[in-house]
Amino acid sequence: MDFGLPLVDNNKEQLDSRKITSQSKEQLIEKGYLPKIKGLYDHESPYIEAILLSHPHQDHYGLLSYISQKIPVYMSRGCKALIEISFFFGQTNYDLANIKTVRPWRPFRKGNFAITPYLVDHSGFDALAYLIEGEGKRIFYSGDFRGHGRKKILFDNLLKHPPRNIDYLILEGSMIGRDKGRYHSENDIEQEMINLFRDDEKLFFIACSSQNIDRLVSVYRACLKTDRTFVIDPYTAFVLDKLKVLSSKIPQAGWNNMKVFFVPNTYTEKMAESNDLYKFKAAKISFQEIVRIGSKLVIKDTFATRNIFGKKKALTNAELIFSMWDGYLRDVKSFWDNHKVKIVGIHSSGHAYIEELKSFVNAVKPKYIIPNHTFFPEKYRDILGGNIMLVRDKQSIIL
Ligand SMILES: [Zn+2]
Ligand SMILES: [Zn+2]
Repeated sequence: MDFGLPLVDNNKEQLDSRKITSQSKEQLIEKGYLPKIKGLYDHESPYIEAILLSHPHQDHYGLLSYISQKIPVYMSRGCKALIEISFFFGQTNYDLANIKTVRPWRPFRKGNFAITPYLVDHSGFDALAYLIEGEGKRIFYSGDFRGHGRKKILFDNLLKHPPRNIDYLILEGSMIGRDKGRYHSENDIEQEMINLFRDDEKLFFIACSSQNIDRLVSVYRACLKTDRTFVIDPYTAFVLDKLKVLSSKIPQAGWNNMKVFFVPNTYTEKMAESNDLYKFKAAKISFQEIVRIGSKLVIKDTFATRNIFGKKKALTNAELIFSMWDGYLRDVKSFWDNHKVKIVGIHSSGHAYIEELKSFVNAVKPKYIIPNHTFFPEKYRDILGGNIMLVRDKQSIIL
């Protein structure tokens, strides 16, 4: 289940991904970045039966390019689409060899296993949890999930109809030890943005991930309700365009209240080369136009965008909404401070809050919980109770 690039190093410092890409597979195995798992790499046989991918975040799929291409990788259609985009733009070297797409709640068999994907609410698009049954045991892998995003209903349904008789619940705990008591939902975010956007003198920039579709929808909806236009960059327009076959509700560049600023960066160049850029020509808005009607807009921040506005001294009356994990603010804070632009943090976690984890565990009542995707596995016992099976990194266990 998943084969991601760690977000942090052994000493819990942010991991520089160049550290990984600059080394050979053998070096990575030697240094422990790649686990020594028999049957996972090219030179070994028999092979691992399959890999189940939960969602398209690097910490879940970032190391897949190293595994044997004989191993099939299962994922949702949205997950496939987003990894394809990341590959196209060179953000990953995983070229999606040997993949199989699965549909939520449609069980399938692989070897001796019966597997049922569950669609879950997460900041990663089209995220899945998996129920895995085999040899009389039932394992539920939560992947990354939450109960307060735009697909909250999925979490509520999971509480109403939890998977039964689970022997092992492999449970993410990103918020364990990190929960700061700010329980913002995606709806709260939309409302807070509406309140800000009502100020009709200000030009707003928004810093958020182009692949966080829930968040882009929240910004778009807040724009609609305050009669503003959401100005995105070509890369974001590309992402939204690629996902429109999966949902007709995802806002598109050509819609009312959506415009595209052709910001000069490597993504835009890449799209010009492949002719994808011209698809958005009709939705194009120029810098001059943005300056003219600034207080009717909300601009998606990118490195190049903010630099253009900074250089041309077009940041008076501007405000930045920082809508990402706090840790990323470090990189950009000085720019906005230097230009005397006020920064307002409006964010909601992509991960389940403690109360959500508790209610989920209460509904599932697993025999054992295996902590996963957390800095504080030892805190699960106090917070969640029940039988906690602590497994160290790279330790093997037989379930
Ligand atoms: Zn994630
Ligand atoms: Zn994750």
